[in-house]
Amino acid sequence: MLKESSSLEYPFQTKPEFGKLIEVSDGIFWLRMPIPFSLDHINLWVLKDGDGWALIDTGFYSEESVALWENVLAGHCHGAKITKIIVTHFHPDHVGMAGWLTNKTGAPLHMSKGEFEMLHIACQPFTEEQIITRGGFYQQFGLADETVNKLLSRKGSYADGVPNAPLSYQCMVDGESIDINGESWQFNNFAGHSPEHVCLFNEQRNILISGDQVLPSISPNISVSYAAPVSDPLAHYLSSLRALSTFPADAVVLPSHGRVFKGLRDRTKVLMSGHQADLEKLQVFCQTPRTGRDVMEELFGDRLNLFNIFLAVGEALAHLNCLVGQDKVVRIDAPVIQYQTK
Ligand SMILES: [Zn+2]
Repeated sequence: MLKESSSLEYPFQTKPEFGKLIEVSDGIFWLRMPIPFSLDHINLWVLKDGDGWALIDTGFYSEESVALWENVLAGHCHGAKITKIIVTHFHPDHVGMAGWLTNKTGAPLHMSKGEFEMLHIACQPFTEEQIITRGGFYQQFGLADETVNKLLSRKGSYADGVPNAPLSYQCMVDGESIDINGESWQFNNFAGHSPEHVCLFNEQRNILISGDQVLPSISPNISVSYAAPVSDPLAHYLSSLRALSTFPADAVVLPSHGRVFKGLRDRTKVLMSGHQADLEKLQVFCQTPRTGRDVMEELFGDRLNLFNIFLAVGEALAHLNCLVGQDKVVRIDAPVIQYQTK
């Protein structure tokens, strides 16, 4: 077995080329597709389901993804029925091709309620009022007017990657399960990275499809948005990691980015301690009152491109709101909000 880090095992030495599949367990296939972000790829899962196939996650919408799916459906799946399309969460690399796939195959879409609703909110263009609210959010964070204006007019919207969102779905409720090929996959719905992200666990096989909730080499983006500026997604994320740390330590984890791995408990510990270290660092940093922008630059430096500023604003606020929630830092309301350690 190849080991990339001290605690994780990677059972597969090779990863599939885009559009090709590797069988990771009997009837469970790993498919990779390109995405136009720095992550560059997403892992999708194609599962034998009776005479047909169940699909888990769908890829970012593009002509290339359409061509790759055409090949997979006709080639690997031999044109057989697609029984279900399961989407872990609303981010465009996961749900982007769901509309194309449901239209093409007639298969039902399965999502959690929180993710299906967020999908349809995210597809809407911003109204004038939303643009004003977003501008105010970035100004209170402490960004310069020029950066705020650039963020507000940033090209590339959610709907580019999700041009035709499905209009109906079947709801995946936390704790319930779905049958795939006579086996039960339990839904474990978690907040933090997105509103109600679904991880699927097959106890019989000891396999966890973790989506973005746990990744082998990076922490998923944990972000506060303009629409919920005092929310505490990091507390929710940390509590999901505590829940996932109780799953079998030797479960095989199928993540949405990176490689199939074993070592779930160690991975959850590393992710928790990384966030904890950032929280402790900020508690010291905020002994002098600091703006959100100060904190963002402390965590991520001051040479970020526009897309990374967008992510880093959300991450910095997630850590600050967590400290406020833990009663360790106070938020001082002003035109530019400041944060000070108690
Ligand atoms: Zn995601």
